[in-house]
Amino acid sequence: MHDLPHAEHGKKAQTKLTRYDRMMARRKPKKGQVASKGYREAKKWRAKAYKKVARQREDTGRKWAKKVVCDHDAIAVEDFRPKFLAKSTMARKAADAAIGATKAALIEMGRKHGRDIRLVHPAHTTMDCAHCDARAKHALPLGERTYTCTACGTVSPRDKNSARVMLVRAGLNPAGADGGRPPGALLQEAA
Ligand SMILES: [Zn+2]
Repeated sequence: MHDLPHAEHGKKAQTKLTRYDRMMARRKPKKGQVASKGYREAKKWRAKAYKKVARQREDTGRKWAKKVVCDHDAIAVEDFRPKFLAKSTMARKAADAAIGATKAALIEMGRKHGRDIRLVHPAHTTMDCAHCDARAKHALPLGERTYTCTACGTVSPRDKNSARVMLVRAGLNPAGADGGRPPGALLQEAA
């Protein structure tokens, strides 16, 4: 199983982006006034920083996807849509964008290398037990890293349980019974 590349990556560029944002806000021309040189400069810097963040994100996503594709013959991918339009914090938006880029890179690279890519409905992947199929009454809080099944008593790391649930849902054998490499799973919330 592979976790997503960490969204922390590119934090420095992200900080710069925020700084230029503020700079632009401070230098914003008043209504009817021509934009100052300082404003135009900040705008240029911001565009440059933005491009850098996007490029870094793409690069990380591609590197990670390559590793996953090399290690697995079959991959289950959560069929989620990052909620760009939802009212969310900048950090959340950045994380969503990173996951979207990673997912796209993984699907593209997987298909290119003839891998078996299966999209899986993402609902309840953190609530279902991979061992007995029982569904927990409540979603596991994000900070809780261990899944404990109240039905069969199985205790396993949260990500491992979710990944197994996804693989089974995708019709893949988590153990990789064909003697091949075990299948991989891409989980959204691992970020
Ligand atoms: Zn169970």
